[in-house]
Amino acid sequence: MSDGPLAPGSTIGILGGGQLGRMLATAGAALGFDVHVFEPEPDCPASRVAARAYCAPWDDAGAVEAFAARCDAVTYEFENVPLDTVAVAARVSQVRPGARSLELTQDRLTEKRFINQAGVATVPFADVTDRDDLGAAIARIGLPAVLKTRRFGYDGKGQAWIRQTGDAGAAWTAIGGKPAILEGAADFRRELSVVAARSVDGEVKAWPLSENVHGDGILERTTAPAPGVDAATQARALEIARAIGGGLGHVGVFAVELFDLGPDGLVVNEIAPRVHNTGHWTMDACGCGQFEQHMRAVAGWPLGDPSPHSACVMTNLIGKDALNWEQIAGDPAARLHLYGKRAVRAGRKMGHVNRLSPL
Ligand code: AMP
Repeated sequence: MSDGPLAPGSTIGILGGGQLGRMLATAGAALGFDVHVFEPEPDCPASRVAARAYCAPWDDAGAVEAFAARCDAVTYEFENVPLDTVAVAARVSQVRPGARSLELTQDRLTEKRFINQAGVATVPFADVTDRDDLGAAIARIGLPAVLKTRRFGYDGKGQAWIRQTGDAGAAWTAIGGKPAILEGAADFRRELSVVAARSVDGEVKAWPLSENVHGDGILERTTAPAPGVDAATQARALEIARAIGGGLGHVGVFAVELFDLGPDGLVVNEIAPRVHNTGHWTMDACGCGQFEQHMRAVAGWPLGDPSPHSACVMTNLIGKDALNWEQIAGDPAARLHLYGKRAVRAGRKMGHVNRLSPL
């Protein structure tokens, strides 16, 4: 373990080996680090670009310890890494971001409470620990409302809308009858996000707000910088990033998904304590992209300059979209990123394309 910045040649470990781990590993290698990856799934996307890959279950403490002991710092690429795994790694290495960022964001209820305590607005929400709580929650929040499992929800999974009281039972069944929260429907003009990084010294640098379009709960397209954002809204986004990053004591990149309520301002939907799909545009359009920035922060280096040199539209390649790779590769305006996933499946993020234009 070391206190100062990690010298090039140091080893940084990543818990999780999907596309985010793959792009982090590539960016880390470009800064001169050896990047090791730990992932339970064999032949994961990151394993094929990392200096070394470990394949073992999250609860194999011996394997986690052997991996972390060889790393000068350990980070994670997704928020559902078990806290016990992080605790094992933290015994033998430094984990950045720390366990607090995971703990607070793995559970939608603790996450939303934390956001409000940090002085930032969310949509109204109520705790629905069991079926009996649902009626009172509906009475408090009003309808329409969306029931979301507290844990393990992503890309719109574990969610069910309730439009009238009669939908309540079906919604509870649809989410598997698990502890949940009920959220009021945000009457948003559009969805925005702010992706930011916080350094070991507590400095926060954010990329400009991006505008995001989802389909079936999955991100389809990001336009950045988001068109028509005034200086006050951009400044508020930075304030939100500072409050959340500081409150978490976060080190590394994180994203805050926002609903733009127009005159009623910005409210937070959720926090991702990691590099984020709505930040994929930064790797081609900014001085320092999110993957390099995260590795800089984890290594205790100064943060790079997030300023954009171009505007960008990022399009996700979902499922069969990726079969068009040849056509996209022939388009000189397209920057193609493919994740090396062996099988195309419906709804699976296979890659993305960044298309730049002058700012
Ligand atoms: P989430 O998994 O919480 O990010 O939700 C996935 C998507 O569902 C969001 O990007 C929104 O498009 C929509 N959504 C989630 N929560 C709400 C809400 N409270 N009001 C309106 N739309 C929502």
